[in-house]
Amino acid sequence: PFDVLIVGGGPAGAAAAVYTARKGIRTGIAAERFGGQVMDTMGIENFISVQSTEGPRFAADLERHVRDYEVDIMNLQRAEGLIPSRVPGGLHEVKLANGVSLKSRTLIVAPGARWRQMNVPGEDQYKNKGVAYCPHCDGPLFKGKRVAVIGGGNSGVEAAIDLAGIVAHVTLIEFDTDLRADAVLQRKLASLPNVKIITSALTTEVLGDGEKVSGLTYKDRNHDTLHEVELEGIFVQIGLVPNTEWLKDAIALTPRGEIEIDHRGETSQPGIFAAGDATTVPYKQIVIAAGDGAKAALSAFDYLIRHEPV
Ligand code: FAD
Repeated sequence: PFDVLIVGGGPAGAAAAVYTARKGIRTGIAAERFGGQVMDTMGIENFISVQSTEGPRFAADLERHVRDYEVDIMNLQRAEGLIPSRVPGGLHEVKLANGVSLKSRTLIVAPGARWRQMNVPGEDQYKNKGVAYCPHCDGPLFKGKRVAVIGGGNSGVEAAIDLAGIVAHVTLIEFDTDLRADAVLQRKLASLPNVKIITSALTTEVLGDGEKVSGLTYKDRNHDTLHEVELEGIFVQIGLVPNTEWLKDAIALTPRGEIEIDHRGETSQPGIFAAGDATTVPYKQIVIAAGDGAKAALSAFDYLIRHEPV
């Protein structure tokens, strides 16, 4: 069995692996796709000390750093179930899709999350070419340009407020008849001169010139009419879904599926820790996921030295 088994090979899992391996304890890491979400990212400019890099390159750097140490890397392995130990210090079991079960004295679960997509024509084609999901990451790339934010919940309205300070103009598009964000955010949004809010609108297509986004079309749901908006960027803010479906019977999740953790990264089950976008920690960013991966690793090490193997 492993001392520490990490599930997830994104920034959180990779950071955890480097930290535990450097303690000289037996570390394994199973990931469906090593690198995680950064594989789908182009420019990364906010990982402190790395002024500018690209997603696939960052992912390769993560993997190279982990491979510097004695870590059992199991790439292209999907975890499908978790059976926590019934006794403190006992072995937890992770079931993989290929039928194999892995056992470990501690677990660090870092399966990340995925942005909910609009699933309209043009969205995939123009991803990273105008279609974006993370205002903190990509907002500055649209300085002085026109953008839309899709979604009028808290994250959509926060994104619109944030972007309004950077870009020339923001169009906020909400499917429902009203925005769902907190009243204080809605008041702030309404006070901004360069924001237009369109409700009862279904985005139907992302338009582009073959290279990058040039606009979008939406359907006015009250009148069943189609409209076009010219712009350079579209921020999709209709939900971030944690990859935690396989954990719901094993550890405590919030109603949104986020793993509940304490300030040390421990879940509701002793000896099982979690980090990154799959958890309740606010602000889903690489630097935060990596920091929390390190934190979970140190907590797992602390657990191991306090519990005799059983
Ligand atoms: P992830 O990166 O999601 O990694 C999760 C890992 O778990 C993957 O290896 C995955 O394959 C694996 N996994 C999932 N389920 C299972 C399972 N059942 N079994 C086994 N393995 C599993 N952040 C920034 O700070 N700066 C940016 O510029 C930036 N740009 C972004 C651009 C895009 C398009 C996107 C989508 C995100 C961007 N982010 C950016 C956010 C950033 O990528 C995430 O915050 C970060 O990757 C989270 O790290 P993580 O390790 O928690 O999860």
